[in-house]
Amino acid sequence: MNKIDPKQKFSLWYLIGVAIIVLALQYWARTSTFETLAYSDFKTLLQAGKLSNLTLKDTTISGTIDLHDTQALLPADTWKSLTRNNQLTHDFITVRVEDPDLINQLQTTRVRYTGIMDSHWFTTLLSWVIPTLAFVAIWSLAVRRMGSSGIGNLMSVGKSKAKVFVQKDVAVRFSDVEGIDEAKQELMEVIEFLRTPEHFQKLGGRIPKGILIVGAPGTGKTLLARAVAGEAQVPFLSISGSEFVEMFVGVGAARVRDLFNQAVQLAPCIIFIDELDALGKVRGISGLTGNDEREQTLNQLLVEMDGFDSNRGVIIMAATNRPEILDPALLRPGRFDRHVAIDRPDLKGRERILSLHAKRLILAADVRLDIVAAKTAGYAGAELANIVNEAALHAARENKQAVEMSDFEVAIDRAISGLEKKNRVMTAKEKETVAYHEAGHTLIAEFSKTADRVAKVTIIPRGIGSLGFTQQLPTEDRYLLKRSELLDRLDVLLGGRGAELMKFGEPSTGAQNDLQRATDLVWHMVTQYGMSETLGPATLDKHHKLASIPGYSETTGNEYSELTAQSIDAEIHKLLQCSEDRVRTLLTIHQQELDLLAQLLLKQETVDREELSKILAMKKDGLHPAFQTSIT
Ligand code: ADP
Ligand code: MG
Ligand code: ZN
Repeated sequence: MNKIDPKQKFSLWYLIGVAIIVLALQYWARTSTFETLAYSDFKTLLQAGKLSNLTLKDTTISGTIDLHDTQALLPADTWKSLTRNNQLTHDFITVRVEDPDLINQLQTTRVRYTGIMDSHWFTTLLSWVIPTLAFVAIWSLAVRRMGSSGIGNLMSVGKSKAKVFVQKDVAVRFSDVEGIDEAKQELMEVIEFLRTPEHFQKLGGRIPKGILIVGAPGTGKTLLARAVAGEAQVPFLSISGSEFVEMFVGVGAARVRDLFNQAVQLAPCIIFIDELDALGKVRGISGLTGNDEREQTLNQLLVEMDGFDSNRGVIIMAATNRPEILDPALLRPGRFDRHVAIDRPDLKGRERILSLHAKRLILAADVRLDIVAAKTAGYAGAELANIVNEAALHAARENKQAVEMSDFEVAIDRAISGLEKKNRVMTAKEKETVAYHEAGHTLIAEFSKTADRVAKVTIIPRGIGSLGFTQQLPTEDRYLLKRSELLDRLDVLLGGRGAELMKFGEPSTGAQNDLQRATDLVWHMVTQYGMSETLGPATLDKHHKLASIPGYSETTGNEYSELTAQSIDAEIHKLLQCSEDRVRTLLTIHQQELDLLAQLLLKQETVDREELSKILAMKKDGLHPAFQTSIT
């Protein structure tokens, strides 16, 4: 990527060329006037008294030969070349060999001689030029070898235009992104703003500066960002966080500055930082490895974002699949404060992604993409695109006229065996467990008095830890909660485990996170909020969480006795036990809905508010409409 500038390359060769020409000229000038003699011939001529004007240097002897009567003394070819100009004298040069008698001999022949130090300007120059040239040559070779990383960047500090990928006309549209309608919806506003910034500025509104797209690998984050630029018809300046990491100190920061300068000139436009996590990891935790560069780059990014007025028409987008490791400074208001989550697509979404990618294939009549979608629960867009491609390749290998269902089956099998290694595909039994678990959460939330209503429930794995999730509305934080509200929340947390117990008679490990949160909640109720009847209104702080963080002393709170500690444990236990009982009662009453919801989840993986309301309302009115049509 970071090649040598062609101009630089040119001047380097130019220099070498000139040096070679100078050398050649000099050599020619010398050899044409000086005949190179063998040392033995030199001695013979000296003895015969045919030499004059001798100049002695460290390594050579030169002078003039009187050619009178020398034919007999010299080899024929030497004599011939000495006399080719028909002159009576000729200059010569010979290499000086170790000869202690030379000076004596010179004295006896009474020839005139001068000694000269071997420091001709030309030799001096040579002793400089040749090593320098050699060095330059090696260096430039090394630079080219190293390519984009390393020394190459030294030459272009601050001039980083090559790295920023600017695309003026992005061809990707929203129609190229399927199955993530919610994320698309959220980004519509951004597109509107980029299309008609004046409209928003007139009203004095502030447009979000930074938008962070969060989602598992392959869910289409990069694709979506490009689609936003494509829809808004604005330039798309993209750069990947991982590219910053391998640079020399100062280069990344200069590059960030450059990126923002370019963006201002191109506004309205989108800056997109892919793989933000590579750049934006929490500062100061990676220990020994030199992360100065990353920190400097990150700091520069923060500085640029702060000093940036989003009303100039530049929107900064970033993507990451690991938001939890990002430096909190990046997520503060005025930076990446708007988050757009992309989930793995559900059944319908998968079918739409599959048909989008299958559009360019010739499909046989037996291909049922809805079945392919049903078999690929938990797959992200990139994996689905890959399955379509694999199926096409397989059909081509078999010389088929069209891609058949059997090709898709082969592709799915291959993808599944690949994914199983990554531990992401659930067995049918696991899926059923997750379905009942999530249905349990949902029903408790619906039937408790104060808990937030459920907006959506799904058994599609989200992130690494959870196997499904129940999304309750509203999601914003509440500052004041009453005891009854906390108890309802507790019941919802235990609802998943309760449903598992009811259906399968035993709990699974899937409830671990719920239990942890439930215990945490109860602990707070008892020791922080004074909500326990037995222990009364007191905060009992001994085992405060902070105690486990180094630097905080163990004694931040009030001391309490061993007896009190036992009461706390008993009280926590009691609250959890009561909650479990309430959950069991409630789920027994609503067992029918539980089964219906779990079955619907198993069938279509996601159940939204509307479908959920139908299940809750219909109770005993016969089957849910969704069960009347069926997929094999
Ligand atoms: P990410 O950046 O989230 O890792 P990409 O945007 O690079 O994922 O997606 C890789 C490819 O997978 C895309 O180029 C596209 O072909 C396909 N793809 C992923 N998600 C979708 C989607 N929602 N709709 C259509 N195609 C998708
Ligand atoms: Mg990507
Ligand atoms: Zn749960």
